[in-house]
Amino acid sequence: METKNALAGIFTLAEGMQAELSALRRDLHRHPETGWTELRTSALIAQRLTALGFDEVLVGEAVCDRASRLGLPSGEALEAADRRAKAQGADPVFLEAARGGMTGVIGVLRCGEGPVVALRFDIDALPIREDDGADHLPAAEGFRSETEGVMHACGHDGHTAIGLGTAKLLCNLRQRLQGTVKLIFQPAEEGVRGAKAIVEKGHLDDVDFLLGAHLGGDRSIQTPTIGVGANPTLATRKLDVCFHGKAAHACLAPDAGNNAMLAAATAILNLHAIPRCGDAPTRVNVGRMTAGSGRNVICDRAVLELEVRGLTTAANDYMTDYAERIVRAAAQMHGCTCEIALRGEAAGDRNSPALCERVLTVCRDGLGLPVCRLDEETGGFISEDYSLLAERVRAHGGQSCYFKNLAACAAPIHDPRFDFPERALVTGAAAFAGVTAELLSAGPTGTEGTDSSPRSE
Ligand SMILES: [Zn+2]
Repeated sequence: METKNALAGIFTLAEGMQAELSALRRDLHRHPETGWTELRTSALIAQRLTALGFDEVLVGEAVCDRASRLGLPSGEALEAADRRAKAQGADPVFLEAARGGMTGVIGVLRCGEGPVVALRFDIDALPIREDDGADHLPAAEGFRSETEGVMHACGHDGHTAIGLGTAKLLCNLRQRLQGTVKLIFQPAEEGVRGAKAIVEKGHLDDVDFLLGAHLGGDRSIQTPTIGVGANPTLATRKLDVCFHGKAAHACLAPDAGNNAMLAAATAILNLHAIPRCGDAPTRVNVGRMTAGSGRNVICDRAVLELEVRGLTTAANDYMTDYAERIVRAAAQMHGCTCEIALRGEAAGDRNSPALCERVLTVCRDGLGLPVCRLDEETGGFISEDYSLLAERVRAHGGQSCYFKNLAACAAPIHDPRFDFPERALVTGAAAFAGVTAELLSAGPTGTEGTDSSPRSE
């Protein structure tokens, strides 16, 4: 009884933050930043967590392992982002720490002995030009992207606002918590580039419970709803391949050259012919090839952008190994050399059933939120680098649950007309704070007889 009341109070608190969360989300939406350039965003998060009195606010080198950042933009792009963030009023103190692709923030709240709960919020935008039609709400209400060609089309502005709302709620509940909370504001989720650097820095090594969520849903959803299911996601690797050959005259001495374009073409056809894996669904795609300088020149350089996926990490490893073998053999066949660069990575993931049940119960019975169970298909067949965080947590016996924050979105994610109802900000913050409070419940707030140990499954 007491539990229910304590948790119901959280939803009321969250509801009281609606105007604040909407304003915050709109500010973030106006200033979108793509992966590894979330400078203004990181500065804003760090500023807010500091003001809330978090015990630790980690920025820059303390967040990401420098060498494990994948798919970093060029030096010029990073410098341009720095100038833009300054012009958009980013706090200079925090900006300094995040420069050069060292974005992301982690806030730590220490509330005595107890389990460690980590909450993950992704913060980056996409290279998409936002719709400017009068029926697109951000355009109509004056919070359309101010950086042309960059847009929060995946709701990560909402995720960031939800994270900061959760931070405020947890600070309010602090005296009732027993354990540690880590709020991970992760850069560069798009292209699955950012999670690896956070994992390699060791931030997940002591985590017992990991939670993440994504906004989404279509117009059939009348009230924001928390959706929970197994959420199987595909492991993936994004590879850039560069073939190096030797240029020669195409008529006088074609035999004197080493044709990098032929090596690339041979690789493409064979990559798409990798035998299917018997254990799990797999995918392969070469999405881009850049090669050649002119009609009568043997091509000396070709670049491929490709990806492989598998429903399990093992199936993804199989695809990766096969792809690399094909690429090297194709290079050798035409007397070329090749370099393979990893540009993004995610693991195969599946939610922990016990934690899913707790999320469902807390949201439905404790917070009074509409909830639904998602079937396998609803959650599957995408990739998310949250999975790398979950993989590390599960490796030492912890639990993970990635749920859906469903609401009547105006268009699918990654669409120039994507937008979500801001009521979902309240639902999201209440869900994260409520579940965390339950997992770290001390005494009367806790559900009687519930063992907080993740190893009791
Ligand atoms: Zn997303």
